[in-house]
Amino acid sequence: IGQDNADYLVSRIRSIPGFPKEGINFRDFMPVLADAKAFALMLDALEQALPVPADDFDAIAGLEARGFLFGPALAARLGKGFIAVRKAGKLPPETIGESYALEYGTATIEIESGMVTPGERVLIVDDLIATGGTAKAAADLIRRAHGEVAGFSFVMELIGLDGLAVLGDVPSSTLVTMP
Ligand code: AMP
Repeated sequence: IGQDNADYLVSRIRSIPGFPKEGINFRDFMPVLADAKAFALMLDALEQALPVPADDFDAIAGLEARGFLFGPALAARLGKGFIAVRKAGKLPPETIGESYALEYGTATIEIESGMVTPGERVLIVDDLIATGGTAKAAADLIRRAHGEVAGFSFVMELIGLDGLAVLGDVPSSTLVTMP
């Protein structure tokens, strides 16, 4: 997208130190979505940075909630379907779930049974990767549903946490790295 456009895109990301709790620097990409030019640039950049060619995957899976805000737009651009990976208890039965550890306690994510067809290749998207725990759980969930994880696309990556390392030997792309 070029340096000027990249700078413009990054300038629309807002940082909120101390939210939602002390010690967290919350990276908010909502202003990107609210700005027509930045939103289109973000989709352009995601498309250009795909970790694998578009013909190497069949569908995009987005993580609730911010993966829902751009995953479907990217999927529509690429002529792919979109699979919603939701927090537990939101989807009607039957569902397939995957639990994973949080800093305190555990969380569970789910997809509807039948949304992933056996052998289907899926690109997983989310706004941000920190420790990688959420993205890893989504990958395990796709595999539990007999899909294959083709890659991961993130808008932002927090450096220093080595989140990409927990994703194993699967290609990934990130648009912006930040501390
Ligand atoms: P993790 O599982 O540690 O990689 O955390 C990634 C998930 O938590 C993503 O769904 C992010 O939206 C959210 N998240 C974690 N840290 C931040 C942060 N500093 N700013 C915004 N979102 C975050």
